Amino acid sequence: MIAANANASDAIAHSTPSLPSPPSVRWDDVKTVLLDMDGTLLDLHFDNYFWMELVPQRFAARHGLDAQIAREQLMARFMAKQGSLDWYCLDYWTRELQLDIAAMKREVAAHVRFLPGAPEFLERLRSAGLHVVLVTNAHANSLSVKHERTGLMDLVDAVVSSHRYGMPKEHAGFWHRLQAEIGFDSHAALFVDDSLAVLRAARAHGIGQVIAVARPDSTQPPRTIVDFPCVATVADFAIPTSGAAVTR
Ligand SMILES: [Mg+2]
Repeated sequence: MIAANANASDAIAHSTPSLPSPPSVRWDDVKTVLLDMDGTLLDLHFDNYFWMELVPQRFAARHGLDAQIAREQLMARFMAKQGSLDWYCLDYWTRELQLDIAAMKREVAAHVRFLPGAPEFLERLRSAGLHVVLVTNAHANSLSVKHERTGLMDLVDAVVSSHRYGMPKEHAGFWHRLQAEIGFDSHAALFVDDSLAVLRAARAHGIGQVIAVARPDSTQPPRTIVDFPCVATVADFAIPTSGAAVTR
């Protein structure tokens, strides 16, 4: 799963270090909260490091290539698969690159971490009685590595990986399948993700409130996002604790 590259290639400028103003969320309207994993709850720095640094290094060594040539070859191959399920599939890249991608993920798993405030955000959502669903393009192996490091799957009510449906979150069909499985009311759903392509698909499906994460990698400045209301990180959400709608 190379969410890192999906985000790197989204046409968003890293132009300003200023943080966005948190959006007004109509919490009274929300019953279901759908949350992306990498770049929304977990720090995308891990994925950026993995795909932009570690994989090119190992690919160069495996195939006897100069590091820069290896990087250029990989970037072209990543771009060709952008937005497809293969893009997120560890098995596909293991075959394509002749590298044991799942083993490499485990090798560096100690670097997996939550984005600031993400566990507390999840606890507050569930305390508020909201149904919280992790909705990810991550491959099962990637999901298990990240869960082992963070316990993330224990902090949500349900987990859906797009690999089960055979199409990524960027596709309209994914959202039809998700709605059929979970049975949520679109208008009463809040969706948070760091991928603009995914956010567009969710909005097109009619998800009631769709919000972007502007700072998916804690080591990078926030991105400027104009198409969607956004938070720097999920820690910026103010969640009602007593049934009253709270925004800030
Ligand atoms: Mg993401």
